[in-house]
Amino acid sequence: MEDVKSTYTMGKELGRGQFGVTHLCTLKSTGQQFACKTLSKRKLHNKEDIEDVRREVQIMYHLAGQPNIVELKEVFEDKHSVHLVMELCAGGELFDRIISKGQYTERAAASLLRTIVQIVHTCHSMGVIHRDLKPENFLLLNKEEDAPLKATDFGLSVFFKQGEIFRDIVGSAYYIAPEVLKKKYGPEVDIWSIGVMLYILLCGTPPFWAESEHGIFKAILEGPIDLSSDPWPHISDGAKDLVKKMLCKDPQKRLTAFQVLNHPWIKEDGEAPDVPLDNAVLGKLKQFRAMNQFKKAALRVIAGCLSEEEIRGLKEMFKRMDTDNSGTITLEELKQGLLSEQGTKLSEAEVKQLMEAADADGNGTIDYDEFITATMQLNRMDKEEHLYTAFQFFDKDNSGFITREELEQALKEKGLYNGKEIKDIIDDADADNDGNIDYQEFVAMMNKGNPDANPKKRRDLEF
Ligand code: ADP
Ligand code: MG
Repeated sequence: MEDVKSTYTMGKELGRGQFGVTHLCTLKSTGQQFACKTLSKRKLHNKEDIEDVRREVQIMYHLAGQPNIVELKEVFEDKHSVHLVMELCAGGELFDRIISKGQYTERAAASLLRTIVQIVHTCHSMGVIHRDLKPENFLLLNKEEDAPLKATDFGLSVFFKQGEIFRDIVGSAYYIAPEVLKKKYGPEVDIWSIGVMLYILLCGTPPFWAESEHGIFKAILEGPIDLSSDPWPHISDGAKDLVKKMLCKDPQKRLTAFQVLNHPWIKEDGEAPDVPLDNAVLGKLKQFRAMNQFKKAALRVIAGCLSEEEIRGLKEMFKRMDTDNSGTITLEELKQGLLSEQGTKLSEAEVKQLMEAADADGNGTIDYDEFITATMQLNRMDKEEHLYTAFQFFDKDNSGFITREELEQALKEKGLYNGKEIKDIIDDADADNDGNIDYQEFVAMMNKGNPDANPKKRRDLEF
């Protein structure tokens, strides 16, 4: 099979998620630009994760040709990675369009939602549940005013048959439907997620919010939806009616995509008023967006960091296990090594999982590279340590706190700088009001309703 690098020139990083990194790429023969999502095989811990990638590709091919769904062009596979080459969406995320306009109306929100519901309707009628609908997964094709919106990231999507029941807890915290948390659900979960998006579009804050992920889940399961405090009194009854019917906790009574499309508020030239929404809504929306970007920047730092010392430790561990000094270890050596290694408290099952994950090329031996990445996954550095690494990255002068300038500098480096909102985040985080963020404040900020830092798959959760 041809190699991705002989066909495409790789360009800058466009974004990253749990499993992979997406880069700009250029088709050498024509100069045409695409996006290439590279999934590292090492991050695919077990058969189920590998199955997920296979399914992502299958579903994208299945949905090919649908308007408003990102087009998969081709797929490459090499020793370490799978590369999905897709059409490039260069216009930013869903909220960017609203934010860039300076003001918007319920009518504009209705029009956006209409496109989104049409996408969901298409998916559902073609037997696909997306399962990860959120603003970050809707991208604009280009920077034009009327650029089409494209649904992306089918990494958690599944095929379903009428009446089929799903049980994996997947999705991103704010957008997860209550029946997902109860591990018994079907396609209705997508309507819930876009109901959450509609709520955010109308008032600027998520409907279920808490300091911790667990708190968010509790709010989703128990909490009533606030449709009475500001700005809701200024929002039309039609909008509120639709929000309620999309965020109906009983999936059986929740509107279907088809029913949403027939709601009077969402119809073209329907009930949605053509008057600007309260300015505060846009402000909050900007802040919500900036917070997500800020966290993304911090996570990128975390992802790219591994100290010399940590690498040395792992190298020594490898050498101790490589009893015949061959430069590779066999599965048996790995097993013996891990079980005898001091300080690792791995169960037999974990060792088995590690061995499956480590042998990326399936040749029965593990080289140093494979070893490092696999070990990293089990011996995950403390989350706290990750945060400290990120903090140090932002704290350019090692002063023990991040100043406004340092934060701006760091975000510029990552291409994530956008004016006023950064100040708002700092104001928000700077609990003791001294103009700087110390480490404690940083940790609090990063943990604040922080769904992104956690894995998307939560097979181990119990409710
Ligand atoms: P993950 O499953 O890891 O979340 P995504 O498919 O959401 O991966 O891609 C991660 C990020 O890469 C996105 O949030 C977006 O910023 C960027 N990205 C993904 N696909 C494209 C695309 N077709 N065009 C431009 N950017 C993209
Ligand atoms: Mg994504």
